[in-house]
Amino acid sequence: MYSFTKEQELIQKAAREYADRVIEPAGAKIDQENLIPSEILRGLGALGMYGIPFPEAYGGGEAGFLSYLLAVEQLCKASLGVGMIISVNAVGLSVVNAFGTEQQKKQYMPDGINGKTIFSFAFTEPGTGSDPKQLSTTAARDGDSYILNGTKRFISNSGYEGPIVVICKESESGQATAFIVDKFCSGYSISEPWEKIGAHGGPLYDVYLKDVKVPAENMLGGIGDGMWVLKVAMIYGKIGLVGLFLGSALAAYEEAVKYARGKTHRGTPIADKFQHIQMSIADMAMKYEACKWYGYHLGYVADTVKDQNILIKEAALTKIFISETAIDIARIAMSIHGSYGLMKDYKISRVWGDVIFGPQVEGTAPTLKVLAAGVILNS
Ligand SMILES: Cc1cc2nc3c(=O)[nH]c(=O)nc-3n(C[C@H](O)[C@H](O)[C@H](O)COP(=O)(O)OP(=O)(O)OC[C@H]3O[C@@H](n4cnc5c(N)ncnc54)[C@H](O)[C@@H]3O)c2cc1C
Repeated sequence: MYSFTKEQELIQKAAREYADRVIEPAGAKIDQENLIPSEILRGLGALGMYGIPFPEAYGGGEAGFLSYLLAVEQLCKASLGVGMIISVNAVGLSVVNAFGTEQQKKQYMPDGINGKTIFSFAFTEPGTGSDPKQLSTTAARDGDSYILNGTKRFISNSGYEGPIVVICKESESGQATAFIVDKFCSGYSISEPWEKIGAHGGPLYDVYLKDVKVPAENMLGGIGDGMWVLKVAMIYGKIGLVGLFLGSALAAYEEAVKYARGKTHRGTPIADKFQHIQMSIADMAMKYEACKWYGYHLGYVADTVKDQNILIKEAALTKIFISETAIDIARIAMSIHGSYGLMKDYKISRVWGDVIFGPQVEGTAPTLKVLAAGVILNS
């Protein structure tokens, strides 16, 4: 586990070089405009960044989830928004790969992998983001089709062309059921973007589905499989999130070290002069190392373990640890910066706005702890 394969190293290096050369210089602009330039999105496709863990048969790299996580970390060190787009796209690809018919895989995966289209995944609603029993979006059978109605809240990537996997309540059975819908079809519309306090670059909208007609063959899995689609989405989504917040943690750590070396007090860098700055740097190094190896372990588990319950538990616990520790690291990095960290000219201010998202998205820490404890206590 503690040595990477040649392939993993090459993927990590390719992501790091692209992030340093192309994304980092655009980082402040992405943050300001809340938009990733389309040439960056195309460049990520050309590098194969959307398809790292997916089968070669559909154009993917078939290089595993550890490789994917290593790449996402490097990209997110430069801009968390870039990683959000890749991560949510990978959620859509993962569920189609796991539950899709051959026809659905052929239709949707190659373009999601080469970046021509970008997936969304819609579970959250105004009434709930944690409880599938409260779903209110409906799918009612109408001959060979289903008619979808409802509102989905905080949906990533929903402004980009491509498929959206929607978790609905199938009207006749009352069971959670997933459908693949083409965004911007008749009846699909989005709100104004939410004004987030951070995680810029991945604009977030509400999605309105008004009498959206989808062929019955667009059902993903069977009636009642929506819960399993959601569980698989949450596993692979959390691998992406772990990469996202590892990237933020690394960015905060590196920014703080750079600042402490450059900022002087009576002619001496604060890194050399003040022992508490040195201790803070050691604290960040210790916390980042713990995050890194716990995070990479999740990639290894995803590549080697088939038991869904173990994956659910590992993904939940790793995501809690990394997202909460990334906040700790960013807090220490802020304190090293003094007031400069509060200014938008300094990258740490942006990282601070990003890390605060970690514990809230894709399941809050309390709900994930309950989930993980259930797996532990029932095994
Ligand atoms: C940047 C961003 C991107 C997002 N992208 C997407 C997306 O692409 N698709 C999507 O579907 N959603 C997305 N979301 C929504 C997000 O995943 C949910 O908001 C999140 O899961 C929490 O749901 P909620 O806000 O409705 O909280 P609630 O479920 O309303 O929870 C509120 C509080 O109650 C607690 N609570 C709730 N249930 C329990 C329980 N059973 N046990 C203990 N405590 C409980 C929670 O811990 C929390 O403190 C996104 C959100 C953000 C901010």
